[in-house]
Amino acid sequence: MIPTSFQPPVRTLMGPGPADVHPRVLSALARPTIGHLDPRFVAMMEEIKDLLRTAFRTENALTMPVSAPGSAGMETCFVNLVEPGDTVIVCVNGVFGGRMCENVTRAGGKLVRVDSPWGRAVDPNRLEDALKQHPEARIVAFVQAETSTGASSDTGQLVGLAHRYDCLTIVDAVTALGGSPLEVDGWGVDAVYAGSQKCLSCTPGLAPISLNERAVAKIKARETPVQSWFLDLNLVLGYWTSDGGNRRSYHHTAPVNALYGLHEALLMLTEEGLEKAWARHQQHHIALRDGLEALGLELVVPADERLPQLNAVSIPGGVDDASVRRLLLERYNLEIGAGLGDFAGKVWRIGLMGFSSRAENILLCISALGAILN
Ligand code: PLP
Repeated sequence: MIPTSFQPPVRTLMGPGPADVHPRVLSALARPTIGHLDPRFVAMMEEIKDLLRTAFRTENALTMPVSAPGSAGMETCFVNLVEPGDTVIVCVNGVFGGRMCENVTRAGGKLVRVDSPWGRAVDPNRLEDALKQHPEARIVAFVQAETSTGASSDTGQLVGLAHRYDCLTIVDAVTALGGSPLEVDGWGVDAVYAGSQKCLSCTPGLAPISLNERAVAKIKARETPVQSWFLDLNLVLGYWTSDGGNRRSYHHTAPVNALYGLHEALLMLTEEGLEKAWARHQQHHIALRDGLEALGLELVVPADERLPQLNAVSIPGGVDDASVRRLLLERYNLEIGAGLGDFAGKVWRIGLMGFSSRAENILLCISALGAILN
């Protein structure tokens, strides 16, 4: 068969991401491509950095999007901050904390893994025990919004604890950014990374990061070079940092149109207002919860540890996980997420992220699930 242009179906995306992309973002992506060193493009990059500072609530000079997905944001933080031999405490309460552990060992760090139960927030007491047992620890890392379980951890508290024991912090905010409160400067987060495809309503493939001066000082004081060429922040910075706009050097070809999309998405977030966006996610989470409970379904995470943007629902006994998801897709063009890791086959993950966090999506999801289950 001769291939023709790909025409994707129009779906409603209520899984763990990507979320629905706003039409304004889609139309920004279709604008003419210009050179990535074009002065107009360089000026737009400066705006992206400012808009990201607003979204992260930070003044950090080193705030930029990495040209690759959220996993590359994670890897950027670990390969730059972890030097061979550094002891790193990783708090794990789901799949993505597990990936942080992989990053630590691959960067040559000594891993101290602190597990909390899946579906629960990271337990600060367990972190404190590990900090006491490992006074040599240099870094503490954890996921604020665990997309695999729907649990929200208290970033302010965990960062405060890590600092008391003189550790730097790496925080995964891939699902948090734009969807629930995140105060990078207010909480003293040292390094944070996010993703474009969740609560920013943008396409996948970009990873906003922000590092404070303490984190930058640790990178500058490294005795060994960063083992990844592409993610070495010392090199990337030459491209992303402007020097009066004149001396921007080539590092890689930026994903020009993808960055138009991110610019538009961040603009929309500031137009809505960060706090209003957080409140919208919370309000729609409550509506979804009420609808799910009316169908007799139960959320996995205790009420005070729930993420508004990712709702993990127990699959009732006798219900076939995969066939329900397939029917939702075939009959209603609606995508919800399967369980990951320990939760595979046990939970559905219903996302209300960014542009997906809308009343009409909740109505569709509840009525479609009701029709299939009853
Ligand atoms: N961290 C968390 C918490 C995530 O939810 C994800 C993706 O779902 C990632 C990291 C990895 O992001 P990406 O899939 O964009 O590489």
